[in-house]
Amino acid sequence: MNSLAITSAPRFASKLKTFLPTELLDIVICDLLQTDYRFEVISGFASSCRAFRWIALRCFFMHLRVSLSERWRQIPHLTYMVKSVNLLATAEAITNPPVSLLSFHALHYVQVTFFRYSVIMQHQTIHAIIKSLPTTLAALVFEDLADIELGALAAIGARFPSLTRLELSCVERLDDSCCWSCFEESSSAVWHSPIPDIFSNTSNLTACICAALKPLTELQHLFLGFFLSPEYLLQEHFSHAPEFDEEGGVVLPFGPEWCTCCFENFATQVRADELQVSLSLAQHFKSLTSVGWGSFFSSKSSEIQERKTKIYVSRKNGRIRVRRRPWVIEPSRL
Ligand SMILES: [Zn+2]
Ligand SMILES: [Zn+2]
Repeated sequence: MNSLAITSAPRFASKLKTFLPTELLDIVICDLLQTDYRFEVISGFASSCRAFRWIALRCFFMHLRVSLSERWRQIPHLTYMVKSVNLLATAEAITNPPVSLLSFHALHYVQVTFFRYSVIMQHQTIHAIIKSLPTTLAALVFEDLADIELGALAAIGARFPSLTRLELSCVERLDDSCCWSCFEESSSAVWHSPIPDIFSNTSNLTACICAALKPLTELQHLFLGFFLSPEYLLQEHFSHAPEFDEEGGVVLPFGPEWCTCCFENFATQVRADELQVSLSLAQHFKSLTSVGWGSFFSSKSSEIQERKTKIYVSRKNGRIRVRRRPWVIEPSRL
């Protein structure tokens, strides 16, 4: 079935009959679900006829959100229905009790959140999660990590050779929503800046990432959500950021991205490093089109809010270039 007929009122049916391709209906239904992911939103469409119900169910189950392990019991029955499934799950739903998704070949995109997992808990579970996922995955996102360890990167590289998108992030763990003490405490519980404690410098970091992810020859988008700025940047910031203003009022916590002093001392070098490491990775991974990092010094305001930066890769005439804006083809060269 490639299309469905939408007809007007019966007396005009012979004159006014429009065929809408199912792909278009898929887009409309998925769009509706994006703003409000409840079946009630599309239940009217689903109950109008058998064909529409099929489309509605297919769209609804293309995106699975699993926060409790009991939910897995419903999933094996769905695999025949959808060719490509996006799964959003908590680490707990996959590991407590352990679940194997190896036979779930429809999985295309998997996003796992490690919310509230300590470094130790994360290290105990992340490899089990990697082993529980089918090797055919195209996109993998681990977010809210306590750290991004090389062992996990190497395990991902070895297990998922078809990955085109890989994102791991821990910068969202920095919590400046309460007070300066909570901000400092959250920074001490996360490996947010691996240079120089884990990697001696950016060259060492580049070499380690290239080695760990070597099998990923189809990788197009890589986001590693830690900072390339030195680890002591945050400590320096905590030591000079004012807790009280001139009238003695409390100053709410803020990060280096809003600090003139940190910007003057670090931004130029960090931004240059972000570009240089991205360029080196683009030389190594031939399919890369974008690289992202955790960063206090992005140029886009939306990225500053999320403490990240995105760098785009251009490959033309054997030359590789990187910058923070998408590369567009100039009309004169079309
Ligand atoms: Zn607090
Ligand atoms: Zn500062």
